[in-house]
Amino acid sequence: MLQSKTFIPTLREVPTDAVTASHRFMFRSGMLRRLANGLFVYLPLGLRAFRKVEQIIREEMDATGALEIKPPVVVPGELWKESGRWDSMGESMLRVKNRQNGDFVVSPTAEEAFTAVIRDELSSYRQLPLSLYQINTKYRDEIRPRYGVMRGREFVMKDAYSFHADETSLDKTYDDMGGAYRRIFKRCGLSVIPVKADSGAMGGSGSEEFMVESDIGDNTLILCGACGYAANVEKAACRPDYTPRPAPEEARAAAASVPPLEKIATPSVRTIEELSAFLKTGAKQFIKTLIYRAVNAEADFPGKDGARLAEHESSGQKRNAPGPLGEAFFAAAIRGDLDVNEVKLAAVLKATEVSLAADADVERITGAPVGFAGPVGLGLPVVLDETVTGMNDAVTGALAKDLHYRHAAYGRDFEGWITADIRTVKAGDLCPVCGGALYEKKGNELGHIFKLGRKYTKAMNVSCLDESGKSIVPVMGCYGIGLDRTLASIIEEHHDEAGIIWPMTVAPYHVIIIPVRYEGAMKLAADTLAAELQARGVEILLDDRAERPGVKFNDADLMGIPLRAVIGDRNLALSPPCVEVKRRDEKESRLVEAAAAAEELSGLVRAELERLNR
Ligand code: ATP
Ligand code: MG
Repeated sequence: MLQSKTFIPTLREVPTDAVTASHRFMFRSGMLRRLANGLFVYLPLGLRAFRKVEQIIREEMDATGALEIKPPVVVPGELWKESGRWDSMGESMLRVKNRQNGDFVVSPTAEEAFTAVIRDELSSYRQLPLSLYQINTKYRDEIRPRYGVMRGREFVMKDAYSFHADETSLDKTYDDMGGAYRRIFKRCGLSVIPVKADSGAMGGSGSEEFMVESDIGDNTLILCGACGYAANVEKAACRPDYTPRPAPEEARAAAASVPPLEKIATPSVRTIEELSAFLKTGAKQFIKTLIYRAVNAEADFPGKDGARLAEHESSGQKRNAPGPLGEAFFAAAIRGDLDVNEVKLAAVLKATEVSLAADADVERITGAPVGFAGPVGLGLPVVLDETVTGMNDAVTGALAKDLHYRHAAYGRDFEGWITADIRTVKAGDLCPVCGGALYEKKGNELGHIFKLGRKYTKAMNVSCLDESGKSIVPVMGCYGIGLDRTLASIIEEHHDEAGIIWPMTVAPYHVIIIPVRYEGAMKLAADTLAAELQARGVEILLDDRAERPGVKFNDADLMGIPLRAVIGDRNLALSPPCVEVKRRDEKESRLVEAAAAAEELSGLVRAELERLNR
């Protein structure tokens, strides 16, 4: 391709809102332009790299036996009402009405659409397992799109959905997909960290995310250097650093020698730090109690128990039993030196959303200003972190302004409604597998594989007959990769101050040919090399522009084309005539005989492709 014939508007200036390398370089190299917040246009150079990523993903999906289909992006709202997500998806889902006033959704994901396709076609277990995928547009009305295509509003996702007669079959496909993901990211030149992930309110049983390390990452990864344990902080566990007493009777016995509960005046002392200083004790002696608001909590909670239900309703909660709660309040209690992880808490409550309650709600529910909540006598379901069951002489809020309790004992003075691990694991905690010290990294999620169970197939009435003629509900898995984010992450991992350094597999062109001036012998040599390379299947860009060599070199570095051949009259005048070859990832160039340049360059391209695709 002649550079003058394509459209690569490079920029010298950095767009002001571009704080990340990928965002900067995608704009400056002329790959991308912005149409609106979170909405981008891929220009020809960007689209070439995008298509390479797409093709790698397609090949690896096909290799697992998954079949590509192309559903519409706009799907009937009816399907989302069937699954229940019309109500639970929240504001990030773009809903539209057509001229007949029908509800439609611009797909943020496609469990519903794929499940509907299967429902209409499935009759026998013999049709299973079946994996279908698409590489298609998604729309999410992200509150804060940022870092260019890293978090856009419209983006392209490869999403696959698998359907199985039983869990064993799902396990196999789930493992195959994990293998395909590892290959995809390797072929893209990316170092990914697969981590255990939250399987959330979906009630899935297995979930793994593929992360890249990143300073701007939205995720915190908890890693063990000793055994390789790796988990998203939303899921990470650690070795207990407390004495668990799972049964209240056991805890009561242990508390027998502890003095009775006692109220202490703590004027204007609210935070754990203030309390620590006031009482001259460590934060580990305190029980921190936080009031949360949960949306669509589905956990089996104490509404069944008359007394507790009354308390619960008096705290202002509405439950249209059975089914999920719209909005409900819960307390979470945890050892004073720790923090509650809201995703873990949401998973325990089987809620779609969990956030700290507003101050006014806290005051209404606890009868005291923020800072004096505690599990003793609190008329609200309390989720106890496991650490609290080890505490039998604790300090905690007394549900009144400027008052705390001391000598609070689990089992004797309070119990919880559910006991679970809801702590945020931190660097320095001990690995749950080997006891080694854990450390943290920031990461960005590129892909996610997930065992969905029967959530959608049940809700949407999918069934087929098994071997014995009995009706069964298939079990599902889903598997997503964001293409735009993958592309941006490749640039994050492969760049220098001057620009992108594409891995050969995803480079928009393999070789850039730069004649110092596109005229005379230099033009002839450049055209000849271009033709020879193309005959060998090498993708080339020929910079035929009437620009100074310095400008052309800077643009080539910015665009990141892995190999550069410079054709100048001085080197052509040597005997034999030479061209200058340089790898984008090396500083030095070297002279290669012009007659052998095509062979040399195509050999380098092949070797790099083989190395990455192996
Ligand atoms: P995140 O937590 O980053 O919002 P997610 O967990 O909501 O992502 P999934 O629903 O698992 O994302 O989607 C699968 C993949 O789609 C993600 O791993 C990511 O690569 C991509 N993706 C999700 N949201 C966006 C977005 N706003 N812009 C670009 N890619 C996205
Ligand atoms: Mg995810």
